[in-house]
Amino acid sequence: MAEPGKFIPIAKPTLDEREADAARRPILSGWVTQGPEVAQFEREFTALVGAEHACALSSCTTALHVALLTVGVRPGDEVITASHSFIASANSIRYCGAKPVFVDIDPATYNIDPGRIEEVITPRTRAILCIHQMGLPCDVRAIVEIARRHNLRVVEDAACAIGSEVCYGGRSEIIGRPHGDIACFSFHPRKVLTTGDGGMLTTSNAEYDRRFRLYRQHGMTVPDTVRHASKQVVFESYAELGFNYRMTDIQAAVGREQLKRLPELIKRRRALAQRYRKLLHDLPGAIPPHEPDWARSNFQSYCVRLPGDCNQRAVMQYMLDAGIATRRGVMCAHREPAYAADDWSCGVPPGECDCPPGRCARLRESERAQDQAIVLPLFHGMTEAEQDRVVATLRDAVHSASAGRSSTDAS
Ligand SMILES: *Cc1c(COP(=O)(O)O)cnc(C)c1O
Repeated sequence: MAEPGKFIPIAKPTLDEREADAARRPILSGWVTQGPEVAQFEREFTALVGAEHACALSSCTTALHVALLTVGVRPGDEVITASHSFIASANSIRYCGAKPVFVDIDPATYNIDPGRIEEVITPRTRAILCIHQMGLPCDVRAIVEIARRHNLRVVEDAACAIGSEVCYGGRSEIIGRPHGDIACFSFHPRKVLTTGDGGMLTTSNAEYDRRFRLYRQHGMTVPDTVRHASKQVVFESYAELGFNYRMTDIQAAVGREQLKRLPELIKRRRALAQRYRKLLHDLPGAIPPHEPDWARSNFQSYCVRLPGDCNQRAVMQYMLDAGIATRRGVMCAHREPAYAADDWSCGVPPGECDCPPGRCARLRESERAQDQAIVLPLFHGMTEAEQDRVVATLRDAVHSASAGRSSTDAS
């Protein structure tokens, strides 16, 4: 048995006096909603990812919604994406009245399989929403090539991928330039950087950036900051249907401190990931994350595929009983009750599919990844002793939960 000890959470944000001090600035300034701190955060973010424009929003979910509206996704359109993602990816398509068309993943990378995209393109397809899952870049170059051939736009769900890199033609490029038309980032506490909640859009298209700013603030033509600073009376108007998707200046002030930490955070995450890989050598059948030679993950999540005969829920319960949090593999949207058969497609025309509910033959690798993988704890302050304990406990858990041994749960 591994040594019992203090509870090990799945993730822990890296926040201290620096962020607390930064939050004092807007709080004491008298301007707390979207204002000068947000503008400065955006400038610093463009410098970090090498984008021409960055626009801060209230979350990555709202960023995805705005990105899809901006590239022209409208009711009746189809958007190609992965079911195997956090549900916000697919939901954002439905917010536009459009239909997610799900493509299976590559089981080695957990990312959308570019080789299966073209077969589901129809005259209604408007865009591809690709996901850099758990921080590992998807093959965005191949996806953009397909999109250009078919006159489709590419939105990158980079919620988890701040600081991740692709290396094409020997050149390393950070995610978010962007490689597609728009990239969307998240600052939820489960991600590498956090502002409590928050999101960011990046693009090299000035017209897109203008539309982001309208959508996030009610479609308002003259922002409150401009009116506030004006010596002349200014009347704004509302050009189109917009939203309140603003980030506050309190969040942005925290975000600016977080940006400074990024190199150090990623370095530590990569070191811990490398160490996990070594430790997992002793666990036959367990498959650590794979990094293709053209991609570098920030290891937002560390996902391990369990040996084939192993009961996932029993392993997770064993770990939890031993004081270690885990999460199951990334969910599949098409298996959730919020997704009735009419709300999505796998490319098989309606009425021609005979897959049982929750088991789609064309999304088999997505379902297998959800059922067989688990996410292990990984956070900046994690110690090597904690990591040793996670792997030792996992070894015991796998042993106890392997076929013929588990009695906990067969569902
Ligand atoms: C976390 C996450 C989101 C949602 O981000 P929020 O900022 O919480 O709205 C979207 N897509 C993916 C892949 C995510 O992991």
